[in-house]
Amino acid sequence: MSIEPFQTFNDWRRDARLFLQEGRAPDQVYWNVDTLQSGLFGTERAGTGEATILIPKEFIALARTVSCHSDETKWSMLYAALWRIKNGEKHLLALSNDPLVRKLRLMEKAVRRDAHKAKAFIRFRLTRDEEGEHYIAWHKPDHDVLPLIAGFFGRRFAVMRWTILTPLRALHWDGEELSWGPGMLEAPADIEDRFEDLWRTYYRSIFNPARIKLKMMRREMPVRYWQTMPETRIIQDMLKEAPDRVAQMLKYSEGLKQSAADFFPEMRTLDSLREAAKSCEACPLYKGATCTVFGTGPAEAPIMFVGEQPGDEEDKAGLPFIGPAGQMLDQALKITGVFRKDLYMTNAVKHFKYKLRGVEREHRTPDKRETAACRPWLMAEIEAVKPQTILTLGVTAGRALLGPGFTMKTDRGRWHDGPEGAKVRCSYHPAAILRSPDAAVREELFAALCEDIALVKAA
Ligand code: URA
Ligand code: SF4
Repeated sequence: MSIEPFQTFNDWRRDARLFLQEGRAPDQVYWNVDTLQSGLFGTERAGTGEATILIPKEFIALARTVSCHSDETKWSMLYAALWRIKNGEKHLLALSNDPLVRKLRLMEKAVRRDAHKAKAFIRFRLTRDEEGEHYIAWHKPDHDVLPLIAGFFGRRFAVMRWTILTPLRALHWDGEELSWGPGMLEAPADIEDRFEDLWRTYYRSIFNPARIKLKMMRREMPVRYWQTMPETRIIQDMLKEAPDRVAQMLKYSEGLKQSAADFFPEMRTLDSLREAAKSCEACPLYKGATCTVFGTGPAEAPIMFVGEQPGDEEDKAGLPFIGPAGQMLDQALKITGVFRKDLYMTNAVKHFKYKLRGVEREHRTPDKRETAACRPWLMAEIEAVKPQTILTLGVTAGRALLGPGFTMKTDRGRWHDGPEGAKVRCSYHPAAILRSPDAAVREELFAALCEDIALVKAA
């Protein structure tokens, strides 16, 4: 049976009307969402108050939105407001300084913002089951915004089968009706990698570039992050627009609780960023490391190198590329005539990730979430330095700049458009070259690295 997305709210409304009629003061009413949902009071009372109690439309609209808020005291607050409206304060909502009204307005605003975010960032992934194609999205809203966005997605994807999962519950559309399902605490892992194509198609169909509303989109997502997302290839042209600064939004698009952007300083200069990064705890990697290894080099460097993460020696010294990988890089720089003083060197991830083996700290590749959490530092460095060219070293750095679709095979050997108008080239990681067992291969890869450095220098 098809559901009414605002069922709980409607139940509350029905009971509230009744309690008002019975003259029950707010302190005589205990609101419990379980009783509401079970419809305990429901059947015999349905409809009773409708004719006699008129509730202002404005209040209903406010209450409907507030009903999605995660704070369960919303029900009693709404009833308290309703009680006052019915008992002589007809224009209560106009009293914007009234503490209760102010609280409700703030809750309304928080929910609205959250619903807006959900609309902007929910990404469907295509899966297949017995019944055919099924589009699935997982999203973690701060509030229970599903009732508010049900209509939006219903209209937009009317002919598809889709499910939006949230930690609290799921909303399902089978092509004909909406239904609720159980929530899911984490994003389902098995569909993790299959959604990229769909996301691209989604953009192609919804955001026809010919009539794209630039202003609107920039409010939804900072331009410089489009860069790192798969739909980039479609909206490449728009990247040339000046990027704006809503770094906080990144984490919503990645489904993260925290990101480096939460630790940003008020004013973003290279020095203030470096200082702020010292206390970053946006992912678990800070726990095992000695210190944050931020980028180094002149603030006006024309070239930026982006590695993966600090290694053992870098972690101890607090400087990037001073260990074995750094020494190999120095050789390549010497051959190509590039000086470190013209380079800003940094890493995609700022803390050393390792596994203890006896006394050895063995390098571990940072995962997707760690890289995503750390990316705002890298983006802020690029924004501050504004290099003309960027050379990424290794797959992690390539992905951090060009998105999850990056592969060395397809993306090395050509220029890419990067943030802040930078031209990006992608090369092998010196550590990977060092690790390669075959001497001939090592030589070949080293030559390729030198070639890439020379090209970046020439540009
Ligand atoms: N490898 C990297 O990617 N970065 C460093 O700073 C050192 C080794
Ligand atoms: Fe912050 Fe990056 Fe360190 Fe994680 S790795 S704690 S995001 S600086």
